[in-house]
Amino acid sequence: MTFQLIDVNNSGQNVTCPHCQHAVLDWSQEQYIQPCEHTLFIAMDLGFEFISDAFEQTMPRSVDEIHAHDEQGLHILNELTQATFKDYQIYKMDLGVEGLYRYIGFSQVAL
Ligand SMILES: [Zn+2]
Repeated sequence: MTFQLIDVNNSGQNVTCPHCQHAVLDWSQEQYIQPCEHTLFIAMDLGFEFISDAFEQTMPRSVDEIHAHDEQGLHILNELTQATFKDYQIYKMDLGVEGLYRYIGFSQVAL
């Protein structure tokens, strides 16, 4: 495993990139998903909101394939952690709904 999982207790708060301080989740914007050049993915247990090409290429299944099979229930974290991308962080935060989380991946280096 080449990632670090970080629990963030902040459902409903903005999330800033640890490398460039860009607000990647910015609830004051109508389009609240604002990926920066370090953002690998933004995903919930309900589906992907954003994926970078660089990260998707390292996943065993594409996002389209994952979504096409979601009738059996998504296991987003399982899919994400099978990727072979090196040295990244996953921020994991509660969605405010029992058992559902959002995951944001940050690369150490700009994509
Ligand atoms: Zn950044």
